[in-house]
Amino acid sequence: MNEELNIPTTTVNGIGKQKAESLKELGIETVYDLLMYVPFRYEDFSVRPLETVRHDEKATVQGKIYGEPVVRYFGKKKSRLSVRLLVGPLMVTVVAFNQAYLRDRLTPGQDVVVTGKWDQHRMTITAQYIKSDREVSDQSYLPVYPLKGNWKQQTLRRYIRLAYEQFSHLLDDTLPNQLREAYRLMSLSESLRALHFPEGEADLKQARRRMVYDELLRFQLKVQAYRKQKREEEEGKVSAGPREEMDRFISSLPFTLTNAQNRVLDEVYTDMKSPYRMNRLLQGDVGSGKTIIAAAALYATVMKGYQGALMVPTEILAEQHTTSLTELFEPLGIRVGHLSGSQTKKQKREQLERVASGEINVVVGTHALIQEGVHFHNLGLVITDEQHRFGVEQRRILREKGETPDVLFMTATPIPRTLAISAFGDMDVSVIDELPPGRKPIDTRWAKPNMLDDVLRFIRREVQKGRQAYVICPLIEESDKLDVQNAIDVHAQLQLAFQDTNVGLMHGRLGAEEKDAVMGEFVDQKVQILVSTTVVEVGVNVPNATVMVIYDAERFGLAQLHQLRGRVGRGAEQSYCVLLADPKSDVGKERMQIMTETNDGFELSERDLELRGPGDLLGKKQSGLPEFSVADLTRDQRTLEVARQDAIKLIASEAFWSREEYVPLREWLEAEGVLEQKALD
Ligand code: ADP
Ligand code: MG
Repeated sequence: MNEELNIPTTTVNGIGKQKAESLKELGIETVYDLLMYVPFRYEDFSVRPLETVRHDEKATVQGKIYGEPVVRYFGKKKSRLSVRLLVGPLMVTVVAFNQAYLRDRLTPGQDVVVTGKWDQHRMTITAQYIKSDREVSDQSYLPVYPLKGNWKQQTLRRYIRLAYEQFSHLLDDTLPNQLREAYRLMSLSESLRALHFPEGEADLKQARRRMVYDELLRFQLKVQAYRKQKREEEEGKVSAGPREEMDRFISSLPFTLTNAQNRVLDEVYTDMKSPYRMNRLLQGDVGSGKTIIAAAALYATVMKGYQGALMVPTEILAEQHTTSLTELFEPLGIRVGHLSGSQTKKQKREQLERVASGEINVVVGTHALIQEGVHFHNLGLVITDEQHRFGVEQRRILREKGETPDVLFMTATPIPRTLAISAFGDMDVSVIDELPPGRKPIDTRWAKPNMLDDVLRFIRREVQKGRQAYVICPLIEESDKLDVQNAIDVHAQLQLAFQDTNVGLMHGRLGAEEKDAVMGEFVDQKVQILVSTTVVEVGVNVPNATVMVIYDAERFGLAQLHQLRGRVGRGAEQSYCVLLADPKSDVGKERMQIMTETNDGFELSERDLELRGPGDLLGKKQSGLPEFSVADLTRDQRTLEVARQDAIKLIASEAFWSREEYVPLREWLEAEGVLEQKALD
């Protein structure tokens, strides 16, 4: 598309060899690049009545020179020019630094336009520009481009104007008319005109709207085309038994599913029933009840005669899931196995044999599950819980073992939906956006470290009521560099403070068995207070724990704080979360504030997104987020959703692949390599 414009910038009349070279510094090689080089902001030079300008605000006003300019010099190079100016009914002083040459150009009675900062108390404008009426261009919004080196805005503006005048008639619009009309979008050449030479704010807004939609639509077309291809190429299987059997299992549970759980289970079941390979992400806030969805899906796959696997990030979690699935499944004659790094060789061998023979129907474990030496009899479904990293690599390992199971990823790390769509572009996304009934919101308080005594008193009160508490510290041992509480010290302190109570200690340096032992004591209520690093962060379920105290809470991100808080509030009792923090930064304070204001993981992550920006939320490197030139994922979420729906429809439609008007988009997809099944970047 737009091949005709893939010509060197020297073809623009007025751009020579040398200038073309320096354009390359900005990444501009062709005329097309030049036209598509978009400003990142604008300067507003539209003339305003002075009455509408606030104190200290920068604005442009028009007035009449009143009296002679006066220049004073400081040293050799510095000067200060001042002149009186009549703006409407107001007499003000205009001051300009180091622009002494203006003295001879400004004459009493002359009409001028002044841009500068307004000081309402002194009735003074500190001028950036003073221009005679005649000099003022009719463009009141001027683009500001990202520049490097010696580049000046003026120069680039001129080149872009030259290029636009000479070549804009050759611009091909990739957006088909039908879509442009449906959304009343400007043409490509019209929107570039508006971006480079805007007539005003409204003009600019329309241009931006078109460019954002265009960019996001193409991004989503790429994602959807890639998915379509993968679907056709990847082997899948029908991995679920009859619906009635799964429903019967569900109705045997002691509770009924929430609407959200039902909807999500439908989506999962439909995928499993289809001959395509399921690749679905299930998001649900902590405590929203993901485990039972996993159980139902595993049940369905066993009913089809397949094995199911549940993979989790920690041994503690593996133990817990094994226990709860055993309780659910054993009475129904489904055998649950367990694979872990801490098993003895003999135990492991025995489990491996039973998995290979198909005697075990459902196996739970850490990533040991997909390692060498593990052979399944017939694997139909793999579910990963809280395992955000499980992805391409693990799927490859499974494929190489000859396994093409359906895959379901479950996560409580709340990722705003739009971000999930883009970061996990080749996955389907299901969301549980509802908690089981009767949950009491966790009462979250932000306490300064000097209130520690009150906090300890509070823990004592809850412990006396028979409840349990978590106390989280950022580090294991004391560190000279970081003035943070460490688990070992805090454990010692609390042992002193709570002499009649058992205080446990848990951290990442303990061996797997030690960890299990400590956790086991907490689960069995032999330990009332558990001091821990963040190893308890994910998944563990101790409904009797009602207090979560987090030391140095400002050191944690919002997602992690929320995850930690999710360890309490899992039973019927009112639960509490205390954030001990004295953040120095505004962002830190804001985070504490947000935690006390909402219990909703999705709202929290939206606000986190605003606070940090999208790349940061997932960690720039591994986020896999595409770079957009106009679109902004924090601002353009709605457009992304619309573009996604449109892309899904287009890719699935006959018209897209055959009709003339889609040729430019198809050519673009081809040029991007998507149709040759290259991976998404
Ligand atoms: P998470 O999504 O954090 O993994 P769990 O699956 O551990 O949440 O569920 C938390 C608790 O809620 C469990 O004790 C579970 O039995 C219970 N639960 C799940 N679904 C429901 C429901 N529909 N009604 C009542 N309780 C439920
Ligand atoms: Mg869970």
